[in-house]
Amino acid sequence: MSDLLSRMRGIEDADVAGKRVLMRADLNVPMKDGNVTDTTRLDRVVPAIRSLSERGAKVIILTHFGRPGGKKVPEMTLEPVAAKLAQQLGKPVRFIADCIGPVAEAGIAALKDGDIAMLENLRFYAGETGNDPEFTAQLAKNGDIYVSDAFSTSHRAHASTEGLAHLLPAYAGPLMMAEITALATALDNPKRPVAAIVGGAKVSSKITVLVNLTKKVDVLIIGGGMANTFMYAKGQAVGKSLCEPDYADTAKEIMATAKAEGCRIMIPEDVVVADEFKPNAKNAVYAADNVPEDGMILDAGPVSVETVEAELENCKTLIWNGPLGAFEMEPFGAATFAVAKKAAELTRAGKLITVGGGGDTVAALNIAGVSEDFTYISTAGGAFLEWMEGKELPGVMALAQG
Ligand code: AMP
Repeated sequence: MSDLLSRMRGIEDADVAGKRVLMRADLNVPMKDGNVTDTTRLDRVVPAIRSLSERGAKVIILTHFGRPGGKKVPEMTLEPVAAKLAQQLGKPVRFIADCIGPVAEAGIAALKDGDIAMLENLRFYAGETGNDPEFTAQLAKNGDIYVSDAFSTSHRAHASTEGLAHLLPAYAGPLMMAEITALATALDNPKRPVAAIVGGAKVSSKITVLVNLTKKVDVLIIGGGMANTFMYAKGQAVGKSLCEPDYADTAKEIMATAKAEGCRIMIPEDVVVADEFKPNAKNAVYAADNVPEDGMILDAGPVSVETVEAELENCKTLIWNGPLGAFEMEPFGAATFAVAKKAAELTRAGKLITVGGGGDTVAALNIAGVSEDFTYISTAGGAFLEWMEGKELPGVMALAQG
């Protein structure tokens, strides 16, 4: 993967003047009653669209919205998204009421150099998610150049995320480039020592992530509910805590692989134990091998936090997915927030490269107030996790030449 970037072409290298540029973005934005409620995804693509338009391209935006299941579902039209994008851009965005066929062809034929248009929801056709060659060819016929700026959909081999790259000259947009650069820096070719923090609820949902990381990182810091399963596997009592006894053998295998690979695994030495799974539940700190029978581990303890912080002082790269505790409930976010702040401080000081991602992780880092300080935060949930699992992402591989 590390030579991937050198095999990808950025859109700034393309001669786009007068060309029809089909640009795949991820504008699957949150909507309520037909209004866009969060413009983050729109704002992130604005610079690339503006630049292409200023360079004389006819910019044609392709995206999906929701899961219409291959049928035209009027409530899932992209018309309001196009209107909102026009507002954010401060330029008109022509909405074209179909993504293939005569309506799309006529709408695109009418575009002048520098114009911006958005095609209707790609998923109104089953050929999109089916990566159907006939559907892909119909999309391709309306473009001269393909740009993918939708890393978050690149773990899916769909017509607009993968198929098109084989039919048109294919380029990566700036968001795609930034994401791959950050992930390659953290995982494929990192400055060492490199640490990973993997937290969250369950071992079962992150087995492949854990196994892949043992082969790539020097220290694997395990937290959250999944650490309980590791404690249980080591013969420690975990009381009423979230735990997956069926995965104790998996946890043991992961510990054995780590040992063979020279990766140190760290699990909490002390834990915050509550009476019940509730905000502000009565709680106390216990040594990890002394958890009471009726207690529930909801966070890592202060000694564990200190150990992790000291570890980070010695590292040059950190990749983070998953909280260290039940951070949504006071006061069980303490360990997550403290470690996040330490990582942010080391990043600001230029000592640590920090890459975080995944839905809950982004939320936790936002609450800790460190999002701006991290080197990179990926909002691409599924694609980010698949990258951490070491999988090849079809939408990324299709952009790589040779
Ligand atoms: P995931 O989606 O796997 O990253 O899991 C995130 C969820 O794990 C969050 O909602 C946390 O509240 C939850 N979590 C973290 N630590 C614990 C714990 N010790 N017990 C129960 N839930 C936890």
